[in-house]
Order: sequence, then C-alpha cells, then structure tokens
Amino acid sequence: MRGGMMSTPLTITEIMRFATRLYRDTEVISVTADEGVHRSTYGTVFKRANQVAHALGRLGVESSDRVATLAWNDHRHLELYYGVSCSGAVLHTINPRLFSEQLAYIINHADDRVVFFDPMFLPLIEELSDKLSSVSHFVVLTSKNKMPESSLLNLHCYEDLISQDCSPYPWPELEETTASALCYTSGTTGNPKGVLYDHRSTVLHAYGSCMANVLGLSHDDVVMPVVPMFHVNAWGTPYSCPIAGSKIVLPGPKMADGETLQSLIENEGVTIALGVPTVWLALLAYLKETGKSIDTLNRTVVGGSACPISIMEEFEKLHGVYTHHGWGMTEMSPLGAVNRLIPGMEKLEESDRNEVRAKQGRTPFGVDMKIVDSDGKDLPNDGVAFGDLKVRGWWVADGYYGEDDNSGPQDEAGWFSTGDVATIDEYGFLGITDRTKDVIKSGGEWISSIELENLAVAHPHVAEAAVIGISDKKWGERPHLVVVCPEGITPDEASILASFKGKVADWWIPDSLSVVDSIPHTATGKISKAILRKQFASAVFK
Ligand code: ADP
Repeated sequence: MRGGMMSTPLTITEIMRFATRLYRDTEVISVTADEGVHRSTYGTVFKRANQVAHALGRLGVESSDRVATLAWNDHRHLELYYGVSCSGAVLHTINPRLFSEQLAYIINHADDRVVFFDPMFLPLIEELSDKLSSVSHFVVLTSKNKMPESSLLNLHCYEDLISQDCSPYPWPELEETTASALCYTSGTTGNPKGVLYDHRSTVLHAYGSCMANVLGLSHDDVVMPVVPMFHVNAWGTPYSCPIAGSKIVLPGPKMADGETLQSLIENEGVTIALGVPTVWLALLAYLKETGKSIDTLNRTVVGGSACPISIMEEFEKLHGVYTHHGWGMTEMSPLGAVNRLIPGMEKLEESDRNEVRAKQGRTPFGVDMKIVDSDGKDLPNDGVAFGDLKVRGWWVADGYYGEDDNSGPQDEAGWFSTGDVATIDEYGFLGITDRTKDVIKSGGEWISSIELENLAVAHPHVAEAAVIGISDKKWGERPHLVVVCPEGITPDEASILASFKGKVADWWIPDSLSVVDSIPHTATGKISKAILRKQFASAVFK
C-alpha cells in the first residue's frame, strides 16, 4: 500500500526558496578575486541566481547542458551554484590547479557549453581556448570596469551579462534525480573521472550534514569553508548553510593565507571553519608568529587527509578550538564520517581519548560502511582487522559520468569500493590506514603510513612528513620517511627516527629518512606518493 504523504521532490531549488523566505538577510561574506571583501545576503545571492538563469538562457544553455566554473569561493560562485543547477543545467566545478592538459581533457569530456572564470584565470583560458571544442561562451567573473583586455571571442563580463534581466526566473519543477553538478576526481587509475551529483543526493547530503552529530549547523553559526567550491562542493556547505540559516564566510583566493583567515574569523565572528590540514598549519603558524587570537571560533572540521593529533592539540590548548576529524571523498559528496566522541568518552585518559580522536569518525545516518578482506569477505569491526573499505548510501556515486565501462566502482551487492584501507572499531569509528595504492607491505604484513606520518609531525623538527614503501630484498618493502623541516631548524635525524620507539611495533619504524625542501602535492593538496615513490625508486639506504 502506498503511503498517504506528499512526495515533493528533493531539489536544490527548495533550498533557495526556503532560505529566501527565512534567511534572506543572513549574510554572505566573500573575499573576491577582484574587489576585496564583499558583503551580500542570501536574499541578494538568490535574486542574482534568477539573473544568472536568465543569462544562461540567452547564451543558449539548455536543460542538462554542462556549465563550467573555474573560480574561488565567493558570492558569484554561489550565485552560479543555484542559477545553473536550479535552471536544470549542470554545474561543472573545475579545479584550476590541474595541469592544463587535464583541464582541457575534463572540459571536453564534460562537453561544457559555457565557462565562467575568475579574472586571474584568463591567461589559462586563453592558452586552452583552441582546444575547447564544445565551449561557445566564456564569462569573466567581474564587473565592467574591472574587465581585463583580451582577444578571446565570445567573452562576456559577468556583472554586465546578469544585469540585463532582473525579473523573477520561472524555475522549472525538476525531478529530484535530475543531475545538478559534476566534479572530476583524480580516480585511482587513468584519466580523471566525473562524479555526477543529482538534486536528491545534494539535498540529502546537505540535510544530513547539518545534524548535531555531523557538522551541527544552526542559524547561530558563522561558517567558513576553507575548502574550495571547485572541489566536492566545499563539503556541501553552499547547500547546508542556507538550510541551517548559517552566515557563510567565503575566503576567495586566500585559502592558505593565515593573515586573511585570522582577520575573517575575528571580523566576521566565524564559529566553525572547515578545511584540510595544510590550511590549518598556515593559520596556526600565523597565530604563533603574531600572538593574534581567534576568539569566536569554537570548532574546526579537518579532513581530506589525515589530521595529526598535534594540530588538534594546538587548536584546543592554545586557542580553545575543538577539532573534529572527518573523512570523505568526491564520490561521497563528500561526507562519509565525522569524529564526535560518544557519551562517556570525554572521561577517557587523554592518550586514550586522542587515540579515538585521531580516527576519522562515524558515519552520518545515510551512509553505511564495511571492511572486507582480499576475497571480499566481511571483516570484524574490532578496531584491529583492516581491509578494503566499502560504502553505500544516499549520496554515494553509482558510476562515473560518461564512462562506457559499466563495471563502475560498485560490487554486485551495490557497495562502492573507496580505494582506502581501514579499520572499524566496535563503536563504529573508522580508522583510515592508507590508500590501497599506498599500502606498505613488509614481510607480508601491512604498515600504516598514515599512522607513521602522524607520529612524525609531532616531532618538533618535522613540519611535514610522508612515508613510502621502498623495495627491500629481505622484506619486500620497508617504510622510508621523507620530511620537511620547519624553517631555520637543523634536524636531528636520529632523534626523529627514535621518536617512533614505543609508539608503534618496532618493525613498523622506518629504517631510513630523507630531509627534503618540499614534498610534492596533487592538485587537491594531498601528498603525491606516486611522485615520491618515483623520486626514491632507485635510492639505496643504510
Ligand atoms: P582526489 O584527491 O583523489 O581527487 P578526493 O578528494 O575525493 O580525491 O579524496 C578522497 C580520499 O582522500 C579518500 O579516499 C582518502 O584516501 C583521503 N582522505 C580524505 N579524508 C581523509 C582523512 N581524514 N584521513 C585520511 N585520508 C583521508
């Protein structure tokens, strides 16, 4: 028997309607690429989303067409999030840090019709334009008097373009499974792969992430996503903040700039900030150097790569800011787990509590996870057994955009293989050990590079650390530690290696160490172990 309730579609348009009714005066603050700090409100952002939708129509964009953005976090990008998706087109956010060949590949693969971009990316677009066969219009995200000179054909100015029709847009009543946004991930092999979100998955993810045990957002919060809107939708905050009525502070191109972040926190009263560990290292270093404070901030959510306990401790002990570790991936919209201690755990001894806090957390309602061995058999949730992590849920991808290969990332029972190796403990806390491709196998046993890296960065002579497997005649592979030292420090290598003693099994301790000026990173800011392994492939230590 069918239930007797309305089945109103879950669409992003409803978020816009809701926030326009209830939070129209709630502020949207941006550091813009061209005009410094800009103040707006949800009311204005959504009014301008109407203007964006009209402009797209004039540019010939039709329902399901892909519309690309190469842009930092600011109000114009937020207007595009809603103007594009709610008109029935697909917002394709692109990471400008990708190599130009990769950019051309994904724009062509996505068959993008229009590209909106920040002024600073004009040289990049000019260089690529000949290779972009599907793009018929380019739009610079700026005002008329800041419009850069260019000989690019079909180049428009955003403010000029959207000012031409300010009437309400007749938003289409979309089905909830309509595609809303597209984001490419580096994938485990080969070319980047596109994850195609839909309205339903986006609304459920945003709804779920507001919950008290997840991000716990409310209209008393001021949220600063220091995670790019070009990579996994800034962890869904452009959608969850208007649902919760939280003021949003968008740091524009100043993502890893300690000074900007500190002043935004203090001036705008930021209560919760989200980002990858590197961003917080920059902020913490700036605070140490200047003695400035971040009094309004009460919590950070750190994910994207493993968050060392040393960052959590510095935030808490010096600044009274509680850090929640989180885990996710592009294919998961991205939230897969957030670490909140369960009742009773606050009373644990500090070292035991830190052991739990270093884990990536528990799944929100809406995501299910399990670990399996190499034969695909379920492993116990005992915090010890580790294996391939599989997930499923309302906001998990069930395939990649435009892939002919139907095998997709799912197994027959509908579980998605994350490519991560993990433990799950009896309380459901997830502990990421490694990415499958980065696993170190010594004498047939696995060693967790993440755990070793976390311990290494706790040493005062280590600013950043990476552990890779190097080949070894006797053991197959042995861990090798690569470190960057803080400026002005001459590292005591023996003391760094000795610092692992008693914290992990002796056979886990790296045999060798290299000090380097910098560690290579991927376009999404993660340590590139593939490049490191190449760099150290022929090295012989001892
Ligand atoms: P990519 O960087 O490959 O484009 P994602 O940004 O989607 O893709 O990265 C997802 C991956 O990042 C996860 O599968 C996991 O390996 C890693 N990751 C994310 N959060 C954490 C975390 N808190 N601890 C350890 N690894 C993490």
